[in-house]
Amino acid sequence: MHGLIEECLRSVPEVVHAIARAEGLVPRRVARAIARGRIVVPANPRREHRLCAIGEGCSVKVNVNVGTSGTRCDPAGELEKARAALDEGADALMDLSTGGDLPAIRRSILALDVSVGTVPVYEAVRRAGSAVDVDADLLFRVIREHCRDGVDFLTLHCGVNQEAYAALVDDPRVMGVVSRGGAFHTVMMAERGEENPLYAEFDYLCEILAEHGVVASLGDGMRPGCRSDAERLAKSTEYLALGRLAKRALSAGVERMIEGPGHMPLEQVGYNVGMLKELTGHAPLYLLGPLVTDLAPGYDHVVAAIGGAVACQHGADFLCMVSPAEHLALPDRQDIVEGTRVARIAAHVGTLSRRPDGAAVRHEEAMGRARRGLDWDEQFRLALFPGHARRIHVRDGDLETCSMCGDLCALRLAGDLLPACPKPPGEDDAA
Ligand code: SF4
Repeated sequence: MHGLIEECLRSVPEVVHAIARAEGLVPRRVARAIARGRIVVPANPRREHRLCAIGEGCSVKVNVNVGTSGTRCDPAGELEKARAALDEGADALMDLSTGGDLPAIRRSILALDVSVGTVPVYEAVRRAGSAVDVDADLLFRVIREHCRDGVDFLTLHCGVNQEAYAALVDDPRVMGVVSRGGAFHTVMMAERGEENPLYAEFDYLCEILAEHGVVASLGDGMRPGCRSDAERLAKSTEYLALGRLAKRALSAGVERMIEGPGHMPLEQVGYNVGMLKELTGHAPLYLLGPLVTDLAPGYDHVVAAIGGAVACQHGADFLCMVSPAEHLALPDRQDIVEGTRVARIAAHVGTLSRRPDGAAVRHEEAMGRARRGLDWDEQFRLALFPGHARRIHVRDGDLETCSMCGDLCALRLAGDLLPACPKPPGEDDAA
């Protein structure tokens, strides 16, 4: 996988054929999109794992964050949460650990069969003791270690530069900085009066990433932390920096994706996604949320799914799971399960909107037919969460209809009178 961009400029490598088969795309089209920086495949050559292609034309993927904190440090529990997320269909994991033996925790997550991302600045801060004591040497050393361990993508807050910091000061926000990595870099810059090393030495950073075949996830350290911060200058200043850096990374042969906002009103989601796509040359877009209301703690997974589905309709490619514990606590296993399921629904809805001729749409059509036929086994087979659906259906008995209308089931009453709609070609292919 080393130098995938260069390989795709010359030919169609075998890995691209595998991706094309999995995504139902034309291999040459996938290779062209990788070469143009519109699809990334986070796959560090040091590890073998199932592929996860993110970007133009691909189905929307879901990342799940796990990781210890300084307050709750249970590495075995985090590993169990990671496995639960994979059981629920997560396409990628991020280890955001900040408590305990960070390299050991990272390696345990890296043993799983999945693309894994990390945020190296977290470990740099832990090693230095505080954000202000992190210098460029330490930060780049940690980045190299994560690359050598086999991490597939790194969140790097390169756009948190002095200009973005000045925008933060000139145009204050209610929530200030809510990204952990963004806050670390802001403190480093403010206290030391220096530029963010990831921005100042971006070419060197690209050399490291290219050497190790690791994808850069250009972090959104200035993402708004509440709806009313969405129109402040810091976010847009960072967008411009990310646009320039995305193009430089591509020129250096580095696969990269862009992380996006944050909290914002629903009506702003579409144009923010469009702006990021335009500024970055249509780089794959990785979103947390967007969270479109701040008033539903406990249900932020649902809030994020609403924003995420709309974002995918406008071009977002990769959704980060938000759990019911968001803004409240470190998620437990059940939070991870619930958040992953809801994120998968948003991703599926997003895939439907961007692939109207794809397998996901045929899958939907098959479900309509199974419902009309009151074919419960087929409905459960097609459902995203079969066990959950079956449990609800059978709780009033194993009925021919369901207990909602019972003997007045509309499907049964009118079904025999109306002609059946013919199956579209390919429906038999539905999962
Ligand atoms: S009983 Fe009502 S809700 Fe249930 S399958 Fe029939 S029409 Fe649908």
